[in-house]
Amino acid sequence: MIIQLEKNISAEQKADIIARVQDAKFKVTEVDTQRASYLVGTGKAEVDLRTLGQLPGILDIHRVSDDYKLVSRKWRVRPTVLDLGDGVRIGEGSLSIAAGPCSIESEAQMEKIMQHLVENDVRLMRGGVFKPRSSPYSFRGLGMDGLKLFHQMARAHGIKIVTEVMQVSQVEEMHDYVDVFQVGARNTQNFNLLDALGGVDKPVMIKRGISGTIEELLSSAEYVFSGGNEKLILCERGIRTFETASRNTLDLNAVPILKEKTHLPVVVDPSHGIGIREYVAPMALAGVMAGADGIIYEAHEKPEEAASDGQQTLNFTESARLIKNLRKVYALRQELE
Ligand code: PEP
Ligand code: MN
Repeated sequence: MIIQLEKNISAEQKADIIARVQDAKFKVTEVDTQRASYLVGTGKAEVDLRTLGQLPGILDIHRVSDDYKLVSRKWRVRPTVLDLGDGVRIGEGSLSIAAGPCSIESEAQMEKIMQHLVENDVRLMRGGVFKPRSSPYSFRGLGMDGLKLFHQMARAHGIKIVTEVMQVSQVEEMHDYVDVFQVGARNTQNFNLLDALGGVDKPVMIKRGISGTIEELLSSAEYVFSGGNEKLILCERGIRTFETASRNTLDLNAVPILKEKTHLPVVVDPSHGIGIREYVAPMALAGVMAGADGIIYEAHEKPEEAASDGQQTLNFTESARLIKNLRKVYALRQELE
């Protein structure tokens, strides 16, 4: 069960509620986020929520049978919309588009892509400065120096940044230069990292694990939420299957399923999802029709020269065309809804 507490609850009232929930054979976890305070009760016993809900200090009480609770739509029915400031929002009511290179490479590269984004009215740029690479000999990113430059240039262009954080020690040093922290597919179940991101007041986009289930993705989001940060986005980026014709299998089934199970925004990454440039655009459009709140994809002035993931990266002509089509398909979806 989830109990949302009143803002001005007294210590005695809270202690009384906790005692009553424990008496009903529930384990109680206290959760304080930037937004509100909750008690999460886990247990199997039957309890009369109406009687319990009468206790002073309780704003709202819900039974949530899912293993994840605070991210469940059984509790918060209205979709969460994140406000990144300067008119940039992620969630129901708009289609977010984030594009950019797999890796941040240089000032000149960033200047080109930012111009491309501004020309196409895209306000979110992706780009890794800490890169998880399968081989230790591959380019591993420009690190903090690259991020500082990325941030400075993004601010000058009115662009918000989505970039990957790989370990706990980076959370603090990256904090002031990031608009959305990305948790990569290799770190979806890095629970220490998720705990650390629970302590920040910036949005966190969690990618689905390479072999991760939808339930596991939701549980990872629950870590961050219960750690204190409600600003979450989930990303379907393809899973590893027996299929070898594509890099991963983009599981678009996950989109309507997630949209039903959680109130959090859901975005699709077709670049890593299929891994083949020619097929990125159709899968992106399919992601929108499946119900995604946003699309995040890789773009570069010269994909064949990209430091990483060039084979799945769109050039600017392809990217501009995709942006137009994404907006058309989103408008069509709204018409059909
Ligand atoms: C990326 O976004 O460049 C990336 C490494 O993604 P993923 O964690 O989904 O592989
Ligand atoms: Mn990549």
